[in-house]
Amino acid sequence: MEKLVACVIGSGIGGLASALRLAARGYSVTVLEKSGEPGGKVAQYNEAGYRFDMGPSLFTLPYLVDELFGLFGRRRADYLKVITLPMTGNYFFSDGLNLKAWSNKEQFLNEVEKTGVNRGKMERYLAKQSFLYEHAADVFLFKSIHKLSTYTSAAGRKGMKALHRMDAFTSMHQRNVKSFGDSRLVQLFDRYATYNGSDPYRAPATLNMIAHLEHNTGAYFPEDGLFGIITAIKRLADEVGVRFYFNTEVTGLVTKGCRVTGVKTRDSVYPADLVVNNTDITLFYRDIMPNARMYRKLMKRERSSSALIFYWGVRTTSALDVHNILFSADYKAEFEGLFKTKELADDLTVYIFISKKAVAADAPDGCENWFVMVNAPENVGQDWEEEVLKARRIVLQKIKSALDFSIEPLIESERVITPQDIECRTGSVNGALYGHSSNSRLSAFKRHPNFSRQYKNLFFTGGSVHPGGGIPLCLASARIVDGLIGAGK
Ligand SMILES: Cc1cc2nc3c(=O)[nH]c(=O)nc-3n(C[C@H](O)[C@H](O)[C@H](O)COP(=O)(O)OP(=O)(O)OC[C@H]3O[C@@H](n4cnc5c(N)ncnc54)[C@H](O)[C@@H]3O)c2cc1C
Repeated sequence: MEKLVACVIGSGIGGLASALRLAARGYSVTVLEKSGEPGGKVAQYNEAGYRFDMGPSLFTLPYLVDELFGLFGRRRADYLKVITLPMTGNYFFSDGLNLKAWSNKEQFLNEVEKTGVNRGKMERYLAKQSFLYEHAADVFLFKSIHKLSTYTSAAGRKGMKALHRMDAFTSMHQRNVKSFGDSRLVQLFDRYATYNGSDPYRAPATLNMIAHLEHNTGAYFPEDGLFGIITAIKRLADEVGVRFYFNTEVTGLVTKGCRVTGVKTRDSVYPADLVVNNTDITLFYRDIMPNARMYRKLMKRERSSSALIFYWGVRTTSALDVHNILFSADYKAEFEGLFKTKELADDLTVYIFISKKAVAADAPDGCENWFVMVNAPENVGQDWEEEVLKARRIVLQKIKSALDFSIEPLIESERVITPQDIECRTGSVNGALYGHSSNSRLSAFKRHPNFSRQYKNLFFTGGSVHPGGGIPLCLASARIVDGLIGAGK
């Protein structure tokens, strides 16, 4: 019998995972990708002996990647080696405190005592986040929240029973203040809002469960860097017969009644029995399936924050770890800048990611590859040349004051990207890293569903649709699409 044909538009992590899941279901799968290589926001570059992951640097829930290999009876470890990081974050606070968030719980609790906060408080907090995740994830992250059947399933019933304990009526920040009192621990746990580009002063405290992923389940790192995930998945996809067409921009859909029958590019039509879109959902309604009402509606919603990143090849061997955070003295002002005034604040939290600390080949001997990032507002036409100069000045000063040395004379290669560059390179609206923000209780429900209400065989995956951005959630969205297709919905 002829195989049914599936087309996937875009080869971001969500598109690649969907392609594999469709191949495992027996579809003949074609992936159409506008750029010259797979991965979308997960990208890398090499220069003068340095390798840089350009996008994501944090990796949790590796079992979601393992699952993709399991679909074909393969072992992820044969394609991608992943290590557990001993430290999830090396935190430097503006008052001089250095707190190491060890993956080992006992070691972390000992470290927390430096702040004067009793370890029991931290244990209770982490247990609460574990409870939230256990009760919320199956229903709100791994199922379509836009289908009634989700709420009548076992996971749905479990989630609904715990609804009153989901902490949705207070903000992450308020809950953290109540939990710790100590402003440094509050800042450390408020930071998890940035893992999906949100504002801890507004996002519901339910999102504090993000901390559960690092502190209770672990932080991981692929031995070839984050881009290694893409290389491994692409290799598997090639082996199982997924066909890729790069430099191939999708420009429209061919439809008949309530079905999509093909995908259009500038010079061809690819016939399809089923289509999964992995491009930014807002632009999908502008460029691929024009729908002015949907486009306007999605444009109006608040988007996640973006980033301004310096990639520095530096001639030094620092005492830093893989993930290092130099906090600003005024976190609130930073988030006001990110979401209200859309300007960089005068003091910034600086994230320094050094993959060389886990992957020896990522920089020459005696050197390190510093990915230095500050959260930045979405691109609304700011003067990015000015903002880069301002950020660079603040970052260099912060490194000097927090780490007590000057990095500037040691920089031997430099590249910078702004929200505007992220927008151009990855096709995300205004350079938002994670689609729409999660700054309100209803954000999760307002995210676009993983299926089309108009066309029965059109589905959506990736960071701009349910359940949201970040590698684990994009993989979850592919799993949801798979479940919907399997259930014939
Ligand atoms: C700087 C940065 C840091 C980040 N840090 C982290 C992190 O530490 N941890 C984490 O988990 N996540 C992080 N993220 C977020 C994470 O990278 C994204 O949520 C995720 O990679 C998005 O995947 P996606 O499936 O939505 O596809 P995308 O990566 O958005 O890819 C979509 C693909 O569609 C293609 N495309 C667009 N239009 C068309 C068209 N018309 N035709 C064909 N193809 C098209 C694009 O070229 C692209 O390849 C970060 C992102 C960035 C940019």
